[in-house]
Amino acid sequence: MSTEYVGQSHTHAEVTAAPVGSCRSCGGPQPRPFLSLGRTPIANRLLRPDDLAEHEPVFPLEVGFCESCTLVQLTHALPAEEIFDADYPYFSSFSDMLCRHAEKHVTELMISRDLGPDSLVVEIASNDGYLLRAFVERGIPVLGIEPSPGPAAAARAAGVPTREDFFNADLARSLVAEGLRADVIIANNVMAHVPDLNSFVEGMSILVADDGIITVENPGVGALLEHTEFDTVYHEHFCYFSTIAVDALMRRHGLHLAGVEEFPELQGGTLRWNLQHAAVDSPQVRERLDRERAAGLDTFDRYASFGDDVRELQAELVTLLRELREHGRTVAAYGAAAKGATLLNSSGITTDLVQYVVDRNVHKQGKYIPGARTPILDPAVLAQRQPDYLLLLAWNVREEIMAQQSTFARRGGKFIVPVPRPVVCAGPLMA
Ligand SMILES: [Zn+2]
Repeated sequence: MSTEYVGQSHTHAEVTAAPVGSCRSCGGPQPRPFLSLGRTPIANRLLRPDDLAEHEPVFPLEVGFCESCTLVQLTHALPAEEIFDADYPYFSSFSDMLCRHAEKHVTELMISRDLGPDSLVVEIASNDGYLLRAFVERGIPVLGIEPSPGPAAAARAAGVPTREDFFNADLARSLVAEGLRADVIIANNVMAHVPDLNSFVEGMSILVADDGIITVENPGVGALLEHTEFDTVYHEHFCYFSTIAVDALMRRHGLHLAGVEEFPELQGGTLRWNLQHAAVDSPQVRERLDRERAAGLDTFDRYASFGDDVRELQAELVTLLRELREHGRTVAAYGAAAKGATLLNSSGITTDLVQYVVDRNVHKQGKYIPGARTPILDPAVLAQRQPDYLLLLAWNVREEIMAQQSTFARRGGKFIVPVPRPVVCAGPLMA
């Protein structure tokens, strides 16, 4: 497939997006598409002012369903260097909710796995060592694995031993050859980003001790469908997991589900899968699999109907924004995360409908959302400009944002929450 560009000419080197020939998990036939979000730029690649003169490459953003193993995945693959290039933004800002969630998990693992000075906890995609530091403080040996140099260096500086590398079966073999086996492997919010899923899971299977545990967290595809969270689809997220699909993937590498937990408030609905070598009969796992089958997560039809939901949501949102514009209302947005780029670009919302977006992250301020080219400003401008409406692109932390923006709400500002259906609300203070 040839590369397509926004505009009449281009200055970028030729890059292509190839259709995925077979399922990333089972290797079965090409996934069957059910939702196209058009051709969009890479969501995380924020534009600098100098970039505005250039034309951005855009790539198909389409999701499909594997009729063999049920895994939901993107139907086109970009070269890894396109996605994880030098400009790939690294931000260690965790939400308060994510921090509390992680601290609770550390305490639970300490007790349930009886961890001590002879144990080893490995975290894959350990970022700046935030989570592992909690184990280090309790005297538990750890190893972080993190491919990005900046975060890896920050982790080491904070006393968290970190290997700067991508995790796969080869790395796992070399760690085992060095005498390492993990009592606990933690892989949070990384599995969706892995190009070679089978090598990644095989690596975890190799590295975990015979009686060890692997704990994997990822937003679940069930919540994505239920709440129409289509904006969590972007090029960096290759796969969208149900427990049914995870079960099939893990079994292929000798790993078995020992438990499933759900965290509905976390990132729109996160699942935690606990895995081990020994097969166990877990009522919790059985119940989860039954519930997912009852919800149709193993059928193409359920995904096709989700596609219809998304198109309706987009039409409603655009209609609302156009009406506000016609009535002379001003609209800004909150949260310059990747999902904001997906929502704006796939819905065709540019600066005539949403004038600017604010974000607390200073590294993002002064840049622009790719595609839509919405300027990113300091949230302090809200006090000066007092827009009439604030579109919450970061809807997953909407309660935190509404609490922070109490002054905006007191002055009469209203919030637009785009998913699961666009609603206007005055914020918790005005309720
Ligand atoms: Zn498959």
